[in-house]
Amino acid sequence: MASEDLIHLLPDSVANQIAAGEVIQRPASVVKELVENSVDAGATVIQVRLVDAGRTNIQVIDNGKGMSETDARMSFERHATSKIKNPADLFALHTFGFRGEALASIAAVAQVEVRTRRAEDELGTVIHIAASRIESQEVEMCPVGTNFQVKNLFFNVPARRKFLKSDQTEVNNVLAEIERVALVHPEIAFSVFRNDVELINVPQATSRQRIQHLFGKKLGQELLSVDVDTTLVKITGCVGVPESARKKGAHCFFFVNGRYMRHPYFHKAVMEAYAHLIPATEQVPYFLYFTVDPSRIDVNIHPTKTEIKFEDEQAIWQILMASVREVLGRSNAAPSIDFDVADCPDIPVLGSGNAALTPPMPTVDSSYNPFKQGGAPSHKSVSTRWNDLYKGVEGSHVGREIRFDEPMEADLPWDEPTRGGLPDEQSPLSDTPLFDDAAAMHDKCSDCYQYKGRYIVTSMKSGLMLVDQHRAHVRILYQRYMAQLSEQRSASQGLLFPEMLTLSASQAMMMEQLLDDFAGLGFDISNMGGGSFAIQGVPGGIEGLNPSSLVGDMLAGAIEQGNVSKEEVHRALALTMARSAAIVVGQVLSPDEMTALIDELFACDMPAYTPDGKKVFAIIEENDIEKRFS
Ligand code: ADP
Ligand code: MG
Repeated sequence: MASEDLIHLLPDSVANQIAAGEVIQRPASVVKELVENSVDAGATVIQVRLVDAGRTNIQVIDNGKGMSETDARMSFERHATSKIKNPADLFALHTFGFRGEALASIAAVAQVEVRTRRAEDELGTVIHIAASRIESQEVEMCPVGTNFQVKNLFFNVPARRKFLKSDQTEVNNVLAEIERVALVHPEIAFSVFRNDVELINVPQATSRQRIQHLFGKKLGQELLSVDVDTTLVKITGCVGVPESARKKGAHCFFFVNGRYMRHPYFHKAVMEAYAHLIPATEQVPYFLYFTVDPSRIDVNIHPTKTEIKFEDEQAIWQILMASVREVLGRSNAAPSIDFDVADCPDIPVLGSGNAALTPPMPTVDSSYNPFKQGGAPSHKSVSTRWNDLYKGVEGSHVGREIRFDEPMEADLPWDEPTRGGLPDEQSPLSDTPLFDDAAAMHDKCSDCYQYKGRYIVTSMKSGLMLVDQHRAHVRILYQRYMAQLSEQRSASQGLLFPEMLTLSASQAMMMEQLLDDFAGLGFDISNMGGGSFAIQGVPGGIEGLNPSSLVGDMLAGAIEQGNVSKEEVHRALALTMARSAAIVVGQVLSPDEMTALIDELFACDMPAYTPDGKKVFAIIEENDIEKRFS
């Protein structure tokens, strides 16, 4: 009895439809595939037109090299590609498409019309294909390039059609795909129309201009350039200044070898570089382009996935973090103050391994508080800190050494006394030996002047610097507290009358976990059980603050962080405490105190911003001042 065969091959159209499900999920996937083909075809102008968010019609028109009659027909065959010939090519991909699957997939689930012509052909080809069946092929007059129309997507797969989201969502997905391609190819002009309304229209431009054209001028002005080249990876692009941070919707883009990628681990590296500059809950925009040896990344075999695995992930993480941090450190003061970096020597870049050291925090004299302990510091003790401004980055594997000591010294003796026109005011520095290095540096920021009880005004080579005294002190204290937290030891001053804190069960749990950290900061707190805690001692320098409300605030700040790393809890503690303990607006400062504050500020690794991203100082350029008198 002849048994009937159970196994048979699916008809091509069905197989194609199944396979298509992986590649083509929504209008945006069609747009992505077609636009990438246009890029691969060398187009310089690409236009995308959507009708009904792409449900009814998706059209992609390019001025690329077009296809011959045979190629046009072949292009819809599964595994038809002009882009790879042998397996080795898979590891050295320089084009977007490589599987020869996209057009076959699109044609399996839609009605497709393509018009295409090569420059060398007089006439072009028009093909109609629907549900994988070629319906017609004709010769026609048409412009050089290729014009795809994909109509009634999923007309033969109703279940898929139902999966589509609202028009707005589908259009947004399309725009996101276009942005990704457009960011990698500023040399190509892109436009997108939805029902004849123009949504995107960006001309050929430079990389930086492209970002502005896509996301606006404001963002364009908030970016700092990144450019680092190591044996493992080359990273170019830009990152936002701390002020550009936002809670939601920051434009974050990574690309590797010309493709968009998602990389949560590298995202953390970028955010880590901003750790002391912006709130942990916010993000900065970035546009970072990696170039790596293609054999050292896992070629993304799945066309719709954007995650990519790197072989040297940890080393690249370090390089990325250090490079962004260095860029931030450099931008802090360098361009706006007096330090001309134009002709500084480049430091040769090292390879992997020892390449990426995290810049160390400059040391801070943690026992010294010019405001709370009385008495001005000796000039020497703080003044050379100006030299430390870039300690963290100098000699690191990325970037260049920034030297600012020379131009400043060369400028001696500097500005004429400018003490707000006060006659004969006794300079606190008149007894300072002028040619002592440290003293000279100190002198650089010595003619301080307090404005409105809030700003310290000091003269710089390039203009006037205004420092917000409260914010400056927050930055200084924050760094000091962070250092104390990592060293876990600080002196405590006993309270005459211990204060009791009564906490809820969840607060008490957090408090128990934080007791060591509070001790590290100089608090002496004992757990009395039942949610009660006794504050028996507090750190020096916070006299005048109510210990229980301070501890309560710090606890609340830590709880707000949620279940996060120790580091982030430390940041929350340090920030709350720094905010409470910092000198307030309105506090009158002596010239020595102002000088000390500025010196300490510039000993911090990130003097330009508070830990939550507020500007600490502003510079009024000399040009601007001169203009006012012209
Ligand atoms: P892949 O891009 O992976 O090669 P596709 O199915 O996307 O596969 O495209 C198949 C082939 O059709 C491409 O290799 C290319 O030769 C040709 N092709 C597709 N789109 C265009 C276009 N816009 N211009 C010129 N040739 C194209
Ligand atoms: Mg393709």
